[in-house]
Amino acid sequence: MAARFDVAARKLSLDEGLCKYLRTPNREIIVHIPVFMDSGQLEIFEGFRVQHSIARGPCKGGVRYGPNVSLDEIRGLAAEMTWKCAVVNIPFGGAKGGVLCDPEKLSPGELERITRRYTAEILDYIGPERDVLAPDMNTDEQTMAWIMDTYSMHVRHTVTASVTGKPVDLGGSRGRRAATGRGCMIVSDESLKRFGRRRDQTRVIVQGFGNVGSQAARLMHEAGYKIIAVSDVHGGTYNSQGLDIPRLLEHVKAGGNAKDFPDGEPIDNTEMLEQDCEVLLPAATESVITSKNAGKIKARILVEGANSPTTAPADDILFERGVFVVPDILANAGGVTVSYFEWVQDRQGYFWPEDDVNEKLKHIMVLAFNDVVQYGEKHNVNNRIAAYMLAIDRVAFSLKLRGIYA
Ligand code: NAD
Repeated sequence: MAARFDVAARKLSLDEGLCKYLRTPNREIIVHIPVFMDSGQLEIFEGFRVQHSIARGPCKGGVRYGPNVSLDEIRGLAAEMTWKCAVVNIPFGGAKGGVLCDPEKLSPGELERITRRYTAEILDYIGPERDVLAPDMNTDEQTMAWIMDTYSMHVRHTVTASVTGKPVDLGGSRGRRAATGRGCMIVSDESLKRFGRRRDQTRVIVQGFGNVGSQAARLMHEAGYKIIAVSDVHGGTYNSQGLDIPRLLEHVKAGGNAKDFPDGEPIDNTEMLEQDCEVLLPAATESVITSKNAGKIKARILVEGANSPTTAPADDILFERGVFVVPDILANAGGVTVSYFEWVQDRQGYFWPEDDVNEKLKHIMVLAFNDVVQYGEKHNVNNRIAAYMLAIDRVAFSLKLRGIYA
């Protein structure tokens, strides 16, 4: 993130002081969370919340739980949220939070107590006008319900807009669950238009079959794309004639892995990325396209559903080879966009039908896609640097209008 920020800031000839300011988070909070474990023993967990920017509105960002969560990781992700919100032009700054713990070893009761005390510790710094929390790695709708309830108990009334990614019955938005995958499809559609290609002539490979990957594969299959390979952490399944995605979803729901799907050939995760296709959609984890395999990628279009699937050296190789990259801060911004809609609906107390959510999402994603591509063409930079430049430019402009209270 920092390497790409520096390139973009240099290209924008950003003032040195402003550059320092935008590179640094506004606030970093470290909390120590006491929790009684089911055994009766008292344990202390470390938690973080980093608020990178409030230049364009309240902070917005997920909370992750995991055994390797660190302040440095959270710091980078918080800044990335600022740029993502600015690319899709929604009125938020970026934040991220986390608790250092191993969720696999914790009972639901222990997770609930960690969540509630974490919320109480950061309470003064969060809320609909300050910082709006959301799910991330190892946190879900239930975690958001606990955060929302704890916040509401302290302020003495129900504040649904304090978090997004809640259950629909508690003020969540229709369409949120599929939003990131839908956003990936929208930017794929826009990319195809540039190449004069139809969906039914387009072969797609999807890495990762979790929230983002499975929803993107489902929607793209329904829209007529040919999904020829899909993988999860255990490996992939390949069928040159196109996979039956509804059947694959049933197979996975019944406890199966992608590589055992009877209608496809098993394929190794690394090998799968290098197969011939038009669209490659990494939607699993970071750093899967590196300087080692970037030269072997045959896709013409890379849609980054995951965060940071491509390393900075791989970027240059892909650019030289003419791969059209839709960078993560644009491609997977459908999730934060519908989170923004959730926040708006909660504040209005009026909830939109799913079709309205999807239509508004499409409007924002298409605008952002065109903004990024045109910015890149105008400044002769690749789409990733263009997305960063556009985002930094927007945040810097808001800061200039507000003035820096220094
Ligand atoms: P998830 O946990 O629901 O799914 C992850 C999937 O990737 C699983 O199928 C898992 O088996 C697979 N996987 C993990 N490691 C893998 C590997 N090394 N090789 C192949 N497959 C692997 O997660 P998700 O919510 O779908 O998120 C996926 C990515 O998208 C992450 O980078 C996340 O930060 C990013 N993202 C998610 C959202 C969202 O709304 N969920 C929004 C923006 C960005």
